[in-house]
Amino acid sequence: MLLDDIKNPDKIVVFSTAPAIRVSLGEEFGYEKGTFVEGKMISLLRKLGADYVFDVTFGADMTIMEEANELVERIEKNINLPLFSSCCPVWVRFAENFYPKMVNHLSTAKSPIAMQGVCIKTYFAKIKNLKPENIVSVIITPCAAKKAEINRPEFNSVGRYNNNESIRDNDYVITTHELAEWAKKENIDFKNLEDSEFDDFLGKGSGAGMIFGRSGGVTESVVRTVYFIVNQKEPPENLIKIEKTENNITEASAFINKNLTLNIAYISGAVAIKTFIEKLKTYDKQFHFVEVMNCIGGCVGGGLSPKAVNLNQIITARSVGLTNKDKQSKIKFCYQNPNIQKIYSEFFKTPLSDISKQLLHTYFNPKK
Ligand code: SF4
Repeated sequence: MLLDDIKNPDKIVVFSTAPAIRVSLGEEFGYEKGTFVEGKMISLLRKLGADYVFDVTFGADMTIMEEANELVERIEKNINLPLFSSCCPVWVRFAENFYPKMVNHLSTAKSPIAMQGVCIKTYFAKIKNLKPENIVSVIITPCAAKKAEINRPEFNSVGRYNNNESIRDNDYVITTHELAEWAKKENIDFKNLEDSEFDDFLGKGSGAGMIFGRSGGVTESVVRTVYFIVNQKEPPENLIKIEKTENNITEASAFINKNLTLNIAYISGAVAIKTFIEKLKTYDKQFHFVEVMNCIGGCVGGGLSPKAVNLNQIITARSVGLTNKDKQSKIKFCYQNPNIQKIYSEFFKTPLSDISKQLLHTYFNPKK
């Protein structure tokens, strides 16, 4: 039980918060929808017993690094295109069960929360001289399906790396709504909490990591990084050209160089996923990258975010909250994040290196 772990002096309890929480938690405490309450959210977690509070935008930056390099590699080798994102566990299970022949199109890069847990229990444990078996990694997300994701048997790569299979990559998932309920039960006056900041080292993510929480965010982040990998220079402001948006399916393109224009799509909602996959073979163009999110609007519309009467309006407000934060970020791209540069130079070496593949990539279980 998490409450027992918090009371246990031998345990180091580390909370990491997904991007969408900071623009939805405030609604539980009477703030306007979409209000950015990051500072109070961090204070709340410290009050509830966190030893460290980190930001899953760091894990999102790691996912972009691996996934963008994976996309470039697949394009060079012309294999398994389009590459489908795999950070939404509902979509992954859907593909495994209903489209098993498609699983080799899924990105093997783990989701941001999975990468976060791995980085906490390997590199962070190493630099802080902590035993990974004593670290309790708790993820706060709007997504109940992440509870199932952390329990997938293969998500114990830290355990395999340490020859102790009882160590899981992450230990608990708490939803936004559950966090708010917990705070209310403890009578914590959220509105009057002082702002606090994330801890170093996994407390800093780029603007690109921040927009993972909304539909189209993964696409934008991956495409920006592909541009940098291919051209070794910063991408232009309006890299993605939207061609068509209909019924939660957006088709777009991105000019990378004279030899490569990416055809991309981002889809949200179960109906749109089915429609797009069935339509895929009728297109006369080769898609390179497809982002798939089970919840309409992406994770900002996650089922266990605070309840909303006008869902469309609230999803837009939360998405705008994240987009604004991306615009204001000093670090816009994952590869500019100094902590990402450090963890690669000191531990993972390069994206898609042997150790990256061992710890940051996964495999799937298609139904026979
Ligand atoms: S889109 Fe929905 S189901 Fe998928 S990860 Fe986000 S919140 Fe979870």
